[in-house]
Amino acid sequence: MKQLSSARSLIPESGIRKLAELSALIPDAIHLEVGEPNVNTPEHIMEAAAVAAREGFTKYTPVPGYPTLRKAIKEDLHARYNLNVSMDEIVVTSGSVMALSASLLAIADVGDEILVPDPAWPVYEMILRVQQCVPVPYVLKAEEGFIPDFEELEAKVTGRTKAIMINTPGNPTGGVFDEETIKRLMEFAVKHDLYVISDEVYDSIIYEGTHITPKAYDTDGRVISIFGVSKKYAMTGWRLGYSIANKEISALMIKIMITLVGNAPSTSQKAAEAALTGPQEFVEEMRLSYQSRRDRAYAMLVQEKIKCYPNKGAFYMLIDISETGMTSDDFALTLLSEEKVAVAPGSTFGVSSQNMVRISLATEETALLEGVRRICAFIAKNR
Ligand code: PLP
Repeated sequence: MKQLSSARSLIPESGIRKLAELSALIPDAIHLEVGEPNVNTPEHIMEAAAVAAREGFTKYTPVPGYPTLRKAIKEDLHARYNLNVSMDEIVVTSGSVMALSASLLAIADVGDEILVPDPAWPVYEMILRVQQCVPVPYVLKAEEGFIPDFEELEAKVTGRTKAIMINTPGNPTGGVFDEETIKRLMEFAVKHDLYVISDEVYDSIIYEGTHITPKAYDTDGRVISIFGVSKKYAMTGWRLGYSIANKEISALMIKIMITLVGNAPSTSQKAAEAALTGPQEFVEEMRLSYQSRRDRAYAMLVQEKIKCYPNKGAFYMLIDISETGMTSDDFALTLLSEEKVAVAPGSTFGVSSQNMVRISLATEETALLEGVRRICAFIAKNR
């Protein structure tokens, strides 16, 4: 048989998935590798989807999403960020990962260079490899609070640079970009005529500072802001996200959506509509719960004198494992076999996190704290 696509064969493997698959073979393993809320979707959201299905919302939908959902998104963005977006600037996608893929397909061509954070969610690089774009990493230094160094960014721009991707609050860093950083980012993007692809899926999960969306500083329509309901409302399996981008980008994304998925699932759209327009107590309860888990996990690590970086947002913490002398892959594999705890190796997020592992705080608290206890013991044993 002829060979598979040579370009797509270069897609790197996700280290998170690898650990998830290996740990699935160990029945009583503690899972701190995948970033997924441990609770079920709130009842009123599930009920809204069930009612919608019975009412016949089971057919194809408009490609950019039901107008009622897009109106709910528009109003939510106005209420939370004072943004005035029009309906044709909103595209509802199958998970925010699809908004990332479709927006990149809309703006970039083969060989275009895209500035990506290091460390970053590994799927960014996978998407760029699928699309034969060139990822150009820029470092988010732990000592600097995981915000970009603009001198480094300046040095990385070439004639082929098309866009910069940002993620705040960040996965795996937990870093939150402040207003000053967002303003500098926008000046940088305007100066070099770059698109800004802004992944804001953790915008509601912040413990220190506030979320500043670059869309609020977008004077000429170069920002594509991407949001989702997965993390905020514990809806990872419903596959629902959305993008806010200028009308031309959005129109092109709609054409691209037709080739990839047609439209986001109808019942998930109705569920997302209920999530955005219904009671919001769940979001605050979960935020406080993640914060308390973070504080308790951090206290345990500090007690054992283990270097780590408490997150300002999102639900991940990076732990420095340099003192063990192990690579992050060896650390993750040995920890899994000896202590039955699965973590994500830092190498999967980039070069700058190679001496770290990531734990997810979205795990149920007793399991999380037991997992952290075992990590502490494992590091102490291997110092
Ligand atoms: N962006 C980041 C930074 C993520 O961590 C994730 C999921 O882990 C996503 C996007 C994907 O979210 P969704 O479930 O909406 O596709």
